[in-house]
Amino acid sequence: MKKTFLTYKYLLPIVACAFIGELQAQEAFPKPTPMKAQMSEYWTPQPAVVTPGTQSKDVIVPAPSDAIILFDGENLSQWQSTKGGPAEWKLSKGAFTVDKSKGDIVTKRKFGDFQLHIEWMIPKDISGKSQGRGNSGLFLQDKYEIQILDCYNNQTYVNGQTGSVYKQTPPLANAMRKPGEWNSYEIIYKAPTFTKDGRYRTPPTVTVIQNGVLLQNHTTILGTTEYIGFPKVAPHGDGPLRLQSHGDPSEPISFRNIWVREL
Ligand code: MG
Repeated sequence: MKKTFLTYKYLLPIVACAFIGELQAQEAFPKPTPMKAQMSEYWTPQPAVVTPGTQSKDVIVPAPSDAIILFDGENLSQWQSTKGGPAEWKLSKGAFTVDKSKGDIVTKRKFGDFQLHIEWMIPKDISGKSQGRGNSGLFLQDKYEIQILDCYNNQTYVNGQTGSVYKQTPPLANAMRKPGEWNSYEIIYKAPTFTKDGRYRTPPTVTVIQNGVLLQNHTTILGTTEYIGFPKVAPHGDGPLRLQSHGDPSEPISFRNIWVREL
């Protein structure tokens, strides 16, 4: 009992003083200003509009022999819901359309370095403006968003345009086709490597070509896609591809002919 009494008598005041001292030290520094989404958005200079060459109505680039087919028009068996269970976006006429009530979908398979082909179409009757017009996105390794948006006669912040590394790097051009016409992305992605303490040893890089026009030229990705705040860096391994079901009220967009080559 005596020992316990002494412990409380002498030890507790020391611990309390140390705690108060720590609090006072923390209060000596100003707190950072809370981030708002608009703080990481900028609108100029706007990339030049480049009209892509004409195309046939068929799939633009058929899959090569060594590609993993992620969607060939038949079913979504290579995909699942991020909420768990099967991907339940709407299949029709060799394409599938976002179902905004079902949330994002991801590939069952995980990838490291890859070359990807994907085609997507903004519906002809699209409405809305800026980020609220055909917004979706392709997340590389589930973490880094390449923006998909209707940027045909629709201005938005440049680091949120079609083909931007979202909230990081604007595209080099605006190569949109009209709503109702199919767009294509060719994406070449190199996954990051990490140091033991969790920083990038080599950061992820990405090249994006839309409709034959270069948008990202071996661009360094700075970290995870964050709507509010700065990109974050945390170690990760291979990851799935994710397609975004964005909450904007505009008409949902469609996808077709998706394949990937592991590198
Ligand atoms: Mg998006």
